[in-house]
Amino acid sequence: MYPPRFDYTAPDSVDEVLSLLQQHGDDAKLLAGGQSLIPLMKLRFATPAWLVDINRLPDLSFIEETKGHLRIGARARHNELARSNLLESKYPIVAAAAPLIADPLVRNLGTIGGSLAHADPAGDWGSVMLALSAELVARSASGERVIAIGDFFQGTFTTALQPTEILAEIRIPRPKGKAGGTYLKLERKVGDFATVAVAVQLELDGKKVRKAGIALTAVGPENIKATAAEDALSGVEPTPEAFAEAAEHAANAAQPISDVRGSAAYKKEVVRVFVKRGLERALRLAEAA
Ligand code: FAD
Repeated sequence: MYPPRFDYTAPDSVDEVLSLLQQHGDDAKLLAGGQSLIPLMKLRFATPAWLVDINRLPDLSFIEETKGHLRIGARARHNELARSNLLESKYPIVAAAAPLIADPLVRNLGTIGGSLAHADPAGDWGSVMLALSAELVARSASGERVIAIGDFFQGTFTTALQPTEILAEIRIPRPKGKAGGTYLKLERKVGDFATVAVAVQLELDGKKVRKAGIALTAVGPENIKATAAEDALSGVEPTPEAFAEAAEHAANAAQPISDVRGSAAYKKEVVRVFVKRGLERALRLAEAA
């Protein structure tokens, strides 16, 4: 099916994008990689009167570290994240997730900002950012605000972004001590959305866990932050028993449904096994950091 008629514009400044969003509100949609929006338009689930293409904007695809943060521009493409030496060497959870997203064609076009703004509960970046306690920088004509990732997802395909806002940047706090993380994804075949996936991040303080980040993909109406699992690890030694307990908490936090990808009970069990496995890998990486 073809989408209904729409107007298209590709501004080359953020200010112009913001003024178009202010002018058209709900009638406008930002176009980043188009890997979720265009299929929705073809199915006529989304029928924007205006498409505002952000691919000509300069400076929205950076990946850089500042004193306190890792900063990622919202238009950084999945493949740019997969190829980044900085992420490979210092943020293994991000480096692990990027090549597991979709297939090479989608990764060449799809962006991290588009993925987060789309808020698909099977989206991989949402869980990674929940595990990393990221902050999202949104800009509108009236200024900038920072949204904690915990406040960003507000249900399936729903976020805290206003129609007048562009997601400009993702900020990830730099770990204070030795840290490591990973992303484990079960998919029916290469390139598929997750049957289940888990994002795991561990920050150590000497022999104890300073902070754990654990989040779950495709097992609920949105990406789930497994807070009871995180709390169970905070301040304790990273022993197999502690990991088993945290994995149990994570499985309890999952709210999967039975579908063509597997039964709810099977998916919960995968969460339990993957969280334990992910924690073991995260610990090895943190100790070696
Ligand atoms: P677009 O499609 O351009 O936009 C998506 C939505 O976000 C739109 O509503 C748009 O207006 C809004 N938006 C875009 N950028 C911004 C911004 N900067 N600020 C505010 N709003 C914005 N994803 C996964 O996570 N895992 C997978 O395994 C996976 N498999 C896929 C397989 C296929 C075959 C396809 C087609 C897609 C798959 N995806 C998967 C989705 C893919 O990752 C998309 O790239 C992503 O969901 C959307 O990013 P995009 O840049 O293409 O956004």
